[in-house]
Amino acid sequence: MTTKVRLIDVSKCVGCKGCQVSCKNWNQLPATPTEFSGSYESPPDLFPNTWSRVKFNEYADSDKVKFYFSFFSCMHCSDPACLNICPVKAISKDSLGSVKVDLGVCIGCGACKGVCPFNVPRIGNNKMFKCTLCSARVSNGMASACATACPTGAISLGDADEKIAEAEARVAELKKSGFANARIYGKDELGGLGVVYVLTDAPDKYGLPAEPKVSLADVYFWKVALGPVKTLATVGLAAGALSGWLQMRKEEIRKEQEGKE
Ligand code: SF4
Ligand code: SF4
Ligand code: SF4
Repeated sequence: MTTKVRLIDVSKCVGCKGCQVSCKNWNQLPATPTEFSGSYESPPDLFPNTWSRVKFNEYADSDKVKFYFSFFSCMHCSDPACLNICPVKAISKDSLGSVKVDLGVCIGCGACKGVCPFNVPRIGNNKMFKCTLCSARVSNGMASACATACPTGAISLGDADEKIAEAEARVAELKKSGFANARIYGKDELGGLGVVYVLTDAPDKYGLPAEPKVSLADVYFWKVALGPVKTLATVGLAAGALSGWLQMRKEEIRKEQEGKE
């Protein structure tokens, strides 16, 4: 199966939250009551029972409020830090590109949350929860629940090459229409993400890190906390040694996954 990309074109988003509700509905996730905090954004964060949400990034524009809406969920990274750190190999990436957690194996240690460059995983009842890219739907030829619900076509799912070409064409169109800062996000970041955005302005305006990075300090912390590489800490090896360990771990996971296919 070809790797899929979820394309999010924020220039088409009207902030209706249909995607958010559809995600809850398909995954049978209960609603969590929230209190009005002065923003229309709700819920204010991801939670174990909220795997996607629409950010209402607000800016003052003369005497008006300007919203930069953006759907946010797991980025399904091509080289996921969460998968690389998990001490019990509960996380895997399938041929669609979906990064998934096996709840039967997860021990809820939180290392995946600690190293994720987008702060996506949430821990509840000693298990990790996040978006699955609706892999059960997508592997059966359906669109993800969020894309199915979106009334404006702001979210769509398709083969990676096609979606990236579509994003590039859309950015060119937006630039011609006066959005000088329009750009793609997710095509090159961290070696390519499973979620590609068409943005009308800089990433930080949409609450996205301009240059997402996996923090080696966080990886180091978690490896020490998790125990198996305690020797790295005691002999005081530096970031180079840790990078070497990570490469070894990635290779091990790649071989294991090849063996499963
Ligand atoms: S965004 Fe975070 S949780 Fe999602 S695949 Fe990347 S590292 Fe893992
Ligand atoms: S909480 Fe721990 S065991 Fe569970 S998926 Fe994350 S890193 Fe793996
Ligand atoms: S359903 Fe579409 S238009 Fe509505 S908030 Fe989600 S992405 Fe935006």
